[in-house]
Amino acid sequence: MGSLNNIIQGHFNEFKSLFVKDENLVFLSRERICNNCPLKTGNSCNSSKYIHPLTKEFSNYRKQGFVRGCGCRLSAKQRAKGSSCPAGFWGGEFKNESIKG
Ligand code: SF4
Repeated sequence: MGSLNNIIQGHFNEFKSLFVKDENLVFLSRERICNNCPLKTGNSCNSSKYIHPLTKEFSNYRKQGFVRGCGCRLSAKQRAKGSSCPAGFWGGEFKNESIKG
């Protein structure tokens, strides 16, 4: 019975590692998007700058149609499953999961 439990545990771990790998791919993708965004300042999404979600035009001033940076610490925000970019560049990847992180 011990070996059956080991096999079941092995299948569970295999499945879990696939899931975690996918999770990390999403987090990496989010990081890459932020790294190419003009609102990124150090490890933060700069709340004193603005970006247009469609044209990706950047501004130091509030303008119609532009979105303000959220001010969040990006390394943490990118790894929170339920979080999203204020300009809609990423987010919602885990919306069909019941587990939020
Ligand atoms: S969260 Fe969105 S707006 Fe902020 S730095 Fe990342 S991509 Fe840019």
